[in-house]
Amino acid sequence: MRIQEKDQAYVAGTYARFPVAIVRGEGSEVYDPDGKRYIDLGSGIGVTSFGISDPVWKEAVVAQLDRVQHMSNLYYTDPCAELARMLCLRTGMKKVFFSNSGAEANECAIKAARKYGAEKRGAACHKILTLENSFHGRTLTTLAATGQAHYHELFQPLTPGFIHTPANDIQALRDAMDPASVCALIIECVQGEGGVIAMDADFVKEAARLAKERDILLIIDEVQTGNGRTGELYAYMHYGIQPDAVTTAKGLGGGLPIGACLLGEKVQSVLGFGDHGSTFGGNPIACAGAISILKRLDDNMLSEVKEKSDLIREMLKDKPGIRSVSGLGMMVGIETERKAIDVVKDCIEGGVLCLTAKTKVRLLPALNIPIPVLKEALTVLTEACAKKEN
Ligand SMILES: *Cc1c(COP(=O)(O)O)cnc(C)c1O
Repeated sequence: MRIQEKDQAYVAGTYARFPVAIVRGEGSEVYDPDGKRYIDLGSGIGVTSFGISDPVWKEAVVAQLDRVQHMSNLYYTDPCAELARMLCLRTGMKKVFFSNSGAEANECAIKAARKYGAEKRGAACHKILTLENSFHGRTLTTLAATGQAHYHELFQPLTPGFIHTPANDIQALRDAMDPASVCALIIECVQGEGGVIAMDADFVKEAARLAKERDILLIIDEVQTGNGRTGELYAYMHYGIQPDAVTTAKGLGGGLPIGACLLGEKVQSVLGFGDHGSTFGGNPIACAGAISILKRLDDNMLSEVKEKSDLIREMLKDKPGIRSVSGLGMMVGIETERKAIDVVKDCIEGGVLCLTAKTKVRLLPALNIPIPVLKEALTVLTEACAKKEN
């Protein structure tokens, strides 16, 4: 059976896949079974931070594979401890809980916030504010956190206690921030799935100030924006704020499943023995891969991301068929005159893989994509945007 037929016969039909199968790759270039080459501008939705089969990452992973692939969380392993140490040193956060996905990282932050609220101000203090148009995951609780009704409709009842206010509307947020009933506020600094929309700096700063003043926890969802993607290690660093918790996943693992909930001063000790757990959380191989990724996200790499961000935005500016370009760093949203999905399909024809986010074309290239490869892909993309109709 061909890959596509087998998948359609046996894999749950939750994904609208493109008719492309990938069998191997190197960096930002991937190949289908017939040897057709594609330049990957999606990096597995911001996961393969240093591309496919990256030699440095692979060496770190294989070295750990030769030592120990898994231990239960009843025992200590160094990759988990070392990754937590590195994350804390780079962010000023105090403790880390490891999971396997972004949704689970958010679940941890939500549990910590609920317990914090209850201990501080009683059981009524359990509500969590999130923004309209946000995305926080697919579990029943993180779906409830997600501020997009179309994800909710078929799965009622969701976890109660989530309130959504409009993004960039500080008055609405201020009115909703009642410390007696609200324990936390969750923000994506750049809404990814919502259409690659960076939040206004004034809004984020004032939200952080209000949260601090009212002792409402500020949780920043860095699942998509984190790990160098926007040109800072974490996107909140562009805004000069200090969150109480940061959740991340996607690009942290470089391709292996990992999620992390970073807990700041206020919440570092909220979760105690037995309050939370995960069988695979802190897996030594996933952590060894993440350590190698984090080590490479130094100042040089972050400037490289900023340079490539400028290059991408320069190459897309004022091009026919492109209405606007949004986002931050190498997280790019493109509003096109044609339907985004038609642009993406033409890009596939032309050997380039792009993503969509709502009505936009979305790019999340590997951070180390070579400039000539990036330019080649953007030429295909701009031609697809300029095309009149199919
Ligand atoms: C992808 C994403 C999630 C969910 O991550 P999973 O690993 O798919 O569970 C949560 N929040 C944001 C901002 C995301 O982009």
